[in-house]
Amino acid sequence: MAKNDKCGCGQGQSHKHATCDAAHVAAPNSPDDALDEVVLEERLQRIRHKILVMSGKGGVGKSTVAANLAISLSLAGKRVGLLDVDIHGPSIPKMLHLEDADVQTKDGEILPVAHAGLKVMSIAFLLRDRDDAVIWRGPMKMTVIKQFLKDVDWGDLDYLIIDSPPGTGDEPLSVCQLAAPVDGAVIVTTPQDVATADVRKSINFCHQMDLPVLGVVENMSGFVCPKCGELTDIFKSGGGERMAADMGVPFLGRIPIDPAVGQACDAGTPFVYHYSRTETAKAFEHVIAPILALSGKIATNQTPNTTNEGKNTPMRIAIPIAEGKLCMHFGHCDQFALLDVDEKTKKLTGKRMVTPPPHEPGVLPRWLHEQGATVIIAGGMGSRAQNLFAENSIKVVVGAPAEAPEQLVAQYLAGTLVSGANVCDH
Ligand code: ADP
Repeated sequence: MAKNDKCGCGQGQSHKHATCDAAHVAAPNSPDDALDEVVLEERLQRIRHKILVMSGKGGVGKSTVAANLAISLSLAGKRVGLLDVDIHGPSIPKMLHLEDADVQTKDGEILPVAHAGLKVMSIAFLLRDRDDAVIWRGPMKMTVIKQFLKDVDWGDLDYLIIDSPPGTGDEPLSVCQLAAPVDGAVIVTTPQDVATADVRKSINFCHQMDLPVLGVVENMSGFVCPKCGELTDIFKSGGGERMAADMGVPFLGRIPIDPAVGQACDAGTPFVYHYSRTETAKAFEHVIAPILALSGKIATNQTPNTTNEGKNTPMRIAIPIAEGKLCMHFGHCDQFALLDVDEKTKKLTGKRMVTPPPHEPGVLPRWLHEQGATVIIAGGMGSRAQNLFAENSIKVVVGAPAEAPEQLVAQYLAGTLVSGANVCDH
């Protein structure tokens, strides 16, 4: 079967088909088309995982889940893009308070909007009047989705989260065909919606497109009282799990109705970014676990120089520095010392000072991972940051004293580093 010929009739990419003609990619028939295909292919090769977020109906919290999923992955130290292909009702810009964002171009490429560690792109950024109704037929939608994938400078990404409109229309079809292979779909539903034919249609769509269903999320499942935190099942919850079992797809978990989620969305601040310690945020974390696991599978195939998960990775110790000594406030240091060590001889082989990016949650773990750090020696560090480093396979030693970096490394290598209390928990 041709790469994008998902209906299975064997006629390749360019044929017409009564039920799905709008969705078929035209075969490259001019040098420009062929060049487009090459550019698209090259762009997609730099994106490790593409995840489609779908729902049977609107208003079930699909975009909320997509935005929070993207932020959770970013907080876990991953490089994440968020693409909103909901052409008729793009809500990601509002959810991230990016309604007035201006899209820039450079050397013919569209630059995604940077926000909270994410690279964001939405049709709303390109509309002159954000309240304009977009009346587009299937082939036009496909063209704009292709442009989002091909012409946006996504750079190297671990994940591209794609928020598609409700249902199984042209947008998810176009994504599946243009961005093939898509790693999988997350299907969002509510307790009231779970038994409806729409959710089953979404699952059947995935089966038809050979798109793995990563799982079903039951959103708005029970109500969390903002005063006492107690969870009450307003509608009968648990149906999502039964439906997932019936249809033989994984169940990813329940996210309660939490007024803070709605308020955060209205204020343009993705919930998990600001309420990371709440039970609801933990529910989101549960949802991303299998998605993070995808990245684990890839990491084992990487070369030692691009990941610090391999056994042969050279040891690079990162230490936060202020005034030449270890800085107790990890997230607010002026610089980091990166010290390279030959593990056999236990000798320092190099040292350089680097300036960290501005302090934002989740940025330092990703940045230090990119710097090739395998060990961090710190005075104090919050448990969330420690978990993020652990997810990036970076070992953390906390409670170290405010001494010169060379001294600390020598003590660490000799096993004589005295680590006291974790003095700073933020
Ligand atoms: P969809 O993308 O499915 O149309 P949205 O993500 O736009 O739905 O969510 C619809 C509304 O529901 C938004 O106002 C959002 O803030 C709110 N919402 C979504 N999930 C929750 C939740 N778990 N708790 C409270 N409000 C929620």
